[in-house]
Amino acid sequence: YYSLLFLVALHFLCLPGFSQNTKMKTFVDGLMSKMTLEEKIGQLNLLTSGAVVTGSAVSTDVEKKIKEGKVGGLLNMTRPEDIKRAQQIAVTQSRLKIPLLFGLDVVHGYKTTFPIPLALSCSWDMDMIERSARVAAIEASADGINWTFSPMVDIARDPRWGRIAEGSGEDPYLGSKIAAAMVKGYQGNDLRKPDNIMACVKHFALYGAAEAGRDYNTTDMSRVRMYNEYFPPYLAAVKAGAATVMTSFNEVDGVPATANKWLMTDVLRNQWGFKGFVVTDYTAINEMVAHGLGDLANVSALALNAGTDMDMVGEGFIETLPASVKAGKVSVKNIDAACRRILEAKYQLGLFDDPYRNSSPERSQNNIYTDAQRSESRKAATESFVLLKNQANLLPLKKQGSIALIGPLANSRTNMTGTWSVSAAIENHPSLLEALQKEVGTDVKINYAKGANLTADSMLEINSTMFGRSLHRDGRSAAALKKEALDIAAQSDIIVAALGEASEMTGEAASRSDIGIPDTQKELLAALLATGKPVVLVLFAGRPMTLTWENQQVPAILNVWFGGCEAGAAIADVLFGAVNPSGKLTATFPQNVGQIPIYYSHKNTGRPLAGNDKWFTKFRSNYLDVSNEPLYPFGYGLSYTSFSYSDITLNSAVLKAGGKLTATVTVTNTGNREGTEVVQLYIRDMVGSIARPVKELKGFERITLKAGAAQQVTFTVTENDLKYYNNELKFGVEPGDFKLFIGTNSRDVKETSFKLQ
Ligand code: BGC
Repeated sequence: YYSLLFLVALHFLCLPGFSQNTKMKTFVDGLMSKMTLEEKIGQLNLLTSGAVVTGSAVSTDVEKKIKEGKVGGLLNMTRPEDIKRAQQIAVTQSRLKIPLLFGLDVVHGYKTTFPIPLALSCSWDMDMIERSARVAAIEASADGINWTFSPMVDIARDPRWGRIAEGSGEDPYLGSKIAAAMVKGYQGNDLRKPDNIMACVKHFALYGAAEAGRDYNTTDMSRVRMYNEYFPPYLAAVKAGAATVMTSFNEVDGVPATANKWLMTDVLRNQWGFKGFVVTDYTAINEMVAHGLGDLANVSALALNAGTDMDMVGEGFIETLPASVKAGKVSVKNIDAACRRILEAKYQLGLFDDPYRNSSPERSQNNIYTDAQRSESRKAATESFVLLKNQANLLPLKKQGSIALIGPLANSRTNMTGTWSVSAAIENHPSLLEALQKEVGTDVKINYAKGANLTADSMLEINSTMFGRSLHRDGRSAAALKKEALDIAAQSDIIVAALGEASEMTGEAASRSDIGIPDTQKELLAALLATGKPVVLVLFAGRPMTLTWENQQVPAILNVWFGGCEAGAAIADVLFGAVNPSGKLTATFPQNVGQIPIYYSHKNTGRPLAGNDKWFTKFRSNYLDVSNEPLYPFGYGLSYTSFSYSDITLNSAVLKAGGKLTATVTVTNTGNREGTEVVQLYIRDMVGSIARPVKELKGFERITLKAGAAQQVTFTVTENDLKYYNNELKFGVEPGDFKLFIGTNSRDVKETSFKLQ
């Protein structure tokens, strides 16, 4: 018995992870035994290095605080020489020489900007999404960044919320896959490798459910909904090994997330086994004073005791925790636990061996914004565009004749990359006009006019100043701008209108109550349509927009979101047909704002929507002025070819507990060119102990088919796919009847049914 025990113990000791952990523990124990309480609290302090965004808090006396051991990390530094210098101060001039973390919002690429996350999600291409995060890590780490505040995995079902641009849309299943892919891309297998960086899953939790889509607003929802619909992507990221988690500004179940012990400790650490550290969002601790949770000392103690480890920018921890320990409001044990988690992260990054993680100007030079990375970004952009309408196959355009390229987004370099563009050279990426000209050379004559300003109101000015970008507002009158556009249209065969949102109308603090194309541009579009020439709308957007009128009037609409540094070239690829579009929406486009929130996986009401019901022919759950249908459903997106789906074949009509069921369709490319299709599997639980959604995504496959080719696609369904949290928050399955759907989007599907026994 004893020798068996000895062998088992030996086995564990020899496991590489185990001995690594022991080494780390010994190291951190040793270091912490030398630290004063103030130095431990210093590790919990994350400061900003300077003004990045005007109108937000900026840290002072940063250098002095680093020397005093009062800083654990810095955020928002983008110049490698500044990062190096700050690290030098920390490791040579502070008493214990503990290296700093350097965090930055590397959200969709670093200098090689990829499409905004919402756009990337529309590719449904997990390898490509992982690769985009990998490129970001390789680039950012070369400049000395070791921590990114990404992925943002908040489920968002309200397109008024500007930050819907930064996430993966409305669906927990797809969102979970993307969350895991991004964590893998940033962190690789071993954080110690200098080109891997720590991911930070944000914003825990429910930030995307801000009431009325107003940023930073209250959220309130049942725990059943949290667990089934909003938590899965956070959990997937944690399971994928995410090193850090960020709290959210909003409250959850009445308690601001940053002080929510149930969230940080019970759910995140105890239920999900999260081992990393939790950082607050920007000044989120201080903001709890306004939430009404007490003074700074009080809210700081609440945050620490809830399980929050690091205080972003607000300095509530360093200012109040020492006294709170004396007053007995906070225990040294809790401070130790937080400090340990942060030191462990530093250890795992290898910072104690090489605080610079091998960063150097040469490494930056060779690994940032390379041709190869830019072509990956270009490919990613083409995969993220969604073709919303293509009447009479107006697209792709032929490379001949003349095109009138018109619109305030047609020649606007600043609007190619979108929100959270780290690149210092936002203005250096080619505009659509420049890219198109390069692509078509002398084959096509491109006539350009701005046609209208982005908006007539001051909303944009405010946000543009905030982000330090210039708006390029044209001083001419609306009439003069329009006239120039119409003159140009008259000389051209076809009109390409580049319209939509400016980058600043999307992202943080950019919620909108009207999510249509601004009136200045809509008026221009109406005038262009009135010429009778064919019009293609190239739509720039950071959110699902209301396009009911455009969908009726404009023959072709290509949604290009904000496609990153190569967006212009990528748009040319798709417009002229070098690439066949394949993106599929990951957030529902409503017909109008009044339908929001609108999402495909809704639940049924008891009221029939049509027909002669026994009781209700009038008292229905609908609007008097608009149907319940969205304009474009989740999963929707067209191609230059067409696909047909066979009926579904199941290997059995019964799924036995512990068994497997396979569902097969044959997908045929019925058009005349190669194309990529995202085949989608949905399931509906017909009878449950709680009300169940009408459809839930449970699988997808991206396939490429030559013209005329057919392919069988088989999905395997197991009990796991049918599990959900019941009213007692128990995760499990309930036997009974299920429907299974496979199709090209969440609306247009084939259907069959099976039984779980
Ligand atoms: C945002 C976070 C971001 C942080 C640091 C906050 O305002 O909500 O998503 O990571 O700033 O820039």
